[in-house]
Order: sequence, then C-alpha cells, then structure tokens
Amino acid sequence: QLTIGIVGLPNVGKSTLFNALTKNDVLAANYPFATIEPNVGVVGLPDPRLDKLAEIYNSEKIIQAPVSFVDIAGLVRGASKGQGRGNAFLANIREATAICQVVRAFSDPNVVHVDGKISPRDDIETINTELILADLQTLEKALPRLEKEAKLRKDRAGILAAAKAAASLLNEGTTLYAGAAAAGIDAEELRELHLLTGKPFLYVFNVDEEELGNAEFLDELRAMVAPAEAVFMDAKIESELIDLSEDEARELLEAIGQPEPGLHQLIRVGFSTLGLQTYLTAGPKEARAWTVPVGATAPEAAGVIHTDFQRGFIKAEIVAYDDLIAAGTMNAAKAAGKVRMEGKDYIMRDGDVVEFRFNV
Ligand code: GDP
Repeated sequence: QLTIGIVGLPNVGKSTLFNALTKNDVLAANYPFATIEPNVGVVGLPDPRLDKLAEIYNSEKIIQAPVSFVDIAGLVRGASKGQGRGNAFLANIREATAICQVVRAFSDPNVVHVDGKISPRDDIETINTELILADLQTLEKALPRLEKEAKLRKDRAGILAAAKAAASLLNEGTTLYAGAAAAGIDAEELRELHLLTGKPFLYVFNVDEEELGNAEFLDELRAMVAPAEAVFMDAKIESELIDLSEDEARELLEAIGQPEPGLHQLIRVGFSTLGLQTYLTAGPKEARAWTVPVGATAPEAAGVIHTDFQRGFIKAEIVAYDDLIAAGTMNAAKAAGKVRMEGKDYIMRDGDVVEFRFNV
C-alpha cells in the first residue's frame, strides 16, 4: 500500500488536519475498516466523474480510489540525533512513499510556535535539515561497504558513484528530491538505500482563512517549495467543515471564497505525487475508480481488479470519460466511434472508462 506520511514541527496543525481527513464521513465513508492503527487512515479520492457515471449507469454505489495517510508525529529539531522520538520517527517515515510536510503559516498568538516565531521558510528548512542529516548518516554507514563491493563487482560501481554524489548534494543542504535530477544522480541506483529525501515531497501550508484569497502571499509560499506541489488550507476550518451539513459546508466555503474543501485538493495532489492515476468502471452495481501507476498497461490495469483478469486478458473496451459524457450513453459513444478496442500493449490513461474482455 502506497502511503503519504504527514510530517511537520509540533503545533503546526498536523493532528487537526489528519483528524479532519479521517473523521470525514464523505471522504472516509467507503473505508470503514481502514483505520488499521490510530495514526493510519485511508480516505477516498474525491472524483466527481464517479457521480456522473453512477447516473448514466444507474449504479447502486460509488467506490472511490483509496489513498492512505499516516500521521508521523514527533519530528523535532535534533530528531536525527535521537531527540524526541528520534529513530522511531525515522523508521515511520522510511515506510511512507511520499512525504507531506504541514507548514504553519497561521498567526494565532494562542498557539505557541516551538521556535518562538512563525516562519514557514525556517520550518521547512528545519525539517529538511533533519531528513538530510538522517540520509547522511545512512550514507556514512553504507559508503565503506559500497567501496568494498565496487572493488569486487563491476555492477556496484553505479550505486557507489550515485551514493557519493548524493552525499555531496546533501552536504550542500539540498534534498535528493529537489536536486538529484539536476546533479545527474540516478535515483534508481539509490533505491536500495531507502533514503528519506529522495521521496516525493508535497507541502500543506496551514494559513489563516483570510489569507486563502491572498494570491501574492500564497505565491510567495508556493515559490519556497517549487517544484514540489503546494496546497493551502485553514486546518481549523477544515475540521469544522466535517461537522456541517452539505449545504452549510458549501455556504462556509463560499464565504471564504473556496470552491471546495482544501482536503479534497490535498488528497488529489497527494495521489498524483505518488505517481498514480485512475481508470473507471461502471455498471448497475457500482461506479468505481481503480488505481494504477502512471504508465501501466491494459493487462496490468486488469490485474488490479483480479489477477485472473490479467492472466486471461484478451482486450479492453475503452472510452475516454469526456467522450462518454459528451455522447451521453455508452451506445451513443459507440455510434460516434469513440469506443476503442485496445490490446495488451495499450498504456492506460487517466479517466479511461473500461470493460475488460478476458478468458477464465
Ligand atoms: P500538531 O502538533 O502539528 O499535530 O498540531 P495540532 O493539530 O495539535 O494543532 C496545534 C494547535 O493549533 C491546536 O490548538 C489547534 O487547534 C491549533 N490549530 C491547528 N490548525 C490551526 C489553524 O489553521 N488555525 C488556528 N488558529 N489554529 C490552528
């Protein structure tokens, strides 16, 4: 299971955000048994396309693609040296596929900042520094071993070179995610070292509701983390939204000038940061989104539903979601020549509406 690890300094709103995500009936509805541990939550990827499909097919229910989050508490300055929960925290973060840092940009004087002042830039740097130090420790331990191996085996030269280059990049204070590609480091080579800063990053800026409409302020924050994605929300408002009726929630969002809850954006950006996309199936029983990695082939996509579908794959009948909606019904889409028969080499696209043909 691919998971997004939520990290951040104490008191920035991580728990508030995590609770809003996982206590949210709409987002968590289809995953009642998904809370495996108190800090792990599985939520549904909001996808309005499923509502439309369910209408067309008269589907009984809607099943969204699952996205899992883990609340990784305890990252403090000095964590890499064993401060706070230290190594326990680092073990947790190692298991996450992507890292979502929650950054405090809200002002509330009643909420103490651990470093005594609100500075998103400094907070990001503090967290990055801890992760960088942890990676440098990993590399320090690994390098003597890699040196020895490279002397004996040609095929270990690549990882040795990548590890050395990674160490010098990290020593300059740059994370692998931000700098590896530009430094010509082959991330694939480093895979077995499970370095933390090589994971995809995304950022949630927890801002005051008044600032959500302040484009200049948000652009400034966005620039701090680019090319990583940034999501902006007021975590306190998000946690209030979950107790409101749909109408009340819509009113509150309108009042603060937001088209949708920030949580929806976060789940979508998190999902794409994981390198995932969805294809869709629909029938009278359910309209459903299925998760595949970007680049998956049609048989691989079929295998997500059932391994038998992959083994016995013959072909896939596919219509792009937008073409189906434009035509109105599957039959109309067929008449318009929009429904394609694709074979085993077809690379899936996000929003493909699919019916697989297979041998059992
Ligand atoms: P964590 O330590 O990062 O998990 O932070 P918490 O979620 O426990 O939040 C710390 C404190 O900040 C709590 O008192 C929250 O109510 C408050 N808080 C969280 N998000 C916001 C926000 O967006 N605005 C304001 N004003 N307070 C917030």
